[in-house]
Amino acid sequence: MDKIDKYPLLQINTNKIYENARIIVEKCREKGVSISGVIKGFNGINCIVEEFVRAGCAQIASSRSEKLIELRKQGLETTSMLIRLPMEREIDELVRYIDISLNSEWKTIELIEEACRRHKTQHGVVLMFDVGDLREGFFNPKELMEQALYIENNCSHVKLTGIGTNLGCYGSVKPTSENLGRLSSLAGDINARIGRKLEIVSGGGTTSLPLLFQGKMPSGINNLRVGEAILLNRDLPDLWNTQVSGMYQDAFILKAQIIEIKDKPSYPIGELYVDAFGNKPTYQDRGVRRRALLAVGKQDFVEHDKLIPSEEGIEVIGSSSDHLIIDIENSKRKLKVGDVIEFYMSYSPMLYLCSSEWVKKKYQF
Ligand SMILES: *Cc1c(COP(=O)(O)O)cnc(C)c1O
Repeated sequence: MDKIDKYPLLQINTNKIYENARIIVEKCREKGVSISGVIKGFNGINCIVEEFVRAGCAQIASSRSEKLIELRKQGLETTSMLIRLPMEREIDELVRYIDISLNSEWKTIELIEEACRRHKTQHGVVLMFDVGDLREGFFNPKELMEQALYIENNCSHVKLTGIGTNLGCYGSVKPTSENLGRLSSLAGDINARIGRKLEIVSGGGTTSLPLLFQGKMPSGINNLRVGEAILLNRDLPDLWNTQVSGMYQDAFILKAQIIEIKDKPSYPIGELYVDAFGNKPTYQDRGVRRRALLAVGKQDFVEHDKLIPSEEGIEVIGSSSDHLIIDIENSKRKLKVGDVIEFYMSYSPMLYLCSSEWVKKKYQF
């Protein structure tokens, strides 16, 4: 470990992530649901992936094929799942290094079949069905059925592993027993036609957990693809009124250093036009306040309003590419230049901070 920490720094506690993953995996297993651990939110950092595996995730899932390929080459044994529909150029490596992918296009599935034939291998496909969120997936249940039967009866290398849906992404649609019931009943229809049970019926991500915990998940759903709940555990308590005991919210902590402290007016002086990004923010006049400038910026976290100061009396008030401004008027600590301020975060800063080369990562085990 470094004697002197270099800031900005993202401190990641892998043990807390393991605990969170273990709790989610166990609570879901009790209800017959397996977990695909989604690693895209933390840029697939290896030592976190290891915790997902150790905690019993059935699959390791990412939207980035490169990451899954790299992990497999490094010896990942857990089943891998590509959760963005494959691009044509990805297919050759997809069938060689990745076990399962989400799909919704006939042409892509044909190309996967061909690539598998070339490489003498097999690949599992989870067909996506769109129940209303309007991102990926077949919209017409008949077409989904035709594609499923086509794979089952005509493809010798592509395996029909299951079906799935996605919710709460583009359309912000809530998972319910009705919309997931449609997926479950489609799975039932397919099972009846193919004479076996689909291995995976995947009913969404973190936002489907409340339904499961309330005992309202339609019985056919046997898999969820979860990232946020394991990593940050913010959405469930803050948005879905769902508390799970023993879960940590501080596995990721941003630490940034103070480079200026001044008393300044809270309302800008002069004719207001646009900020550094061409936006026209509004400012509240709260008089002269003590504020600090931190050496970290939008380039690192993008959205300052998703950062959560860990100590009382500190408020995030704004940011530009390389600076974060905080109000410290009510800070309990007597802050000075060089002091370090800590932040918890929700999903988007984690996503950006993990993949920023400017932010040092420090792991706690
Ligand atoms: C990102 C993603 C997930 C995981 O979402 P969380 O909210 O992090 O649980 C699941 N499925 C798909 C298709 C995704 O892209």
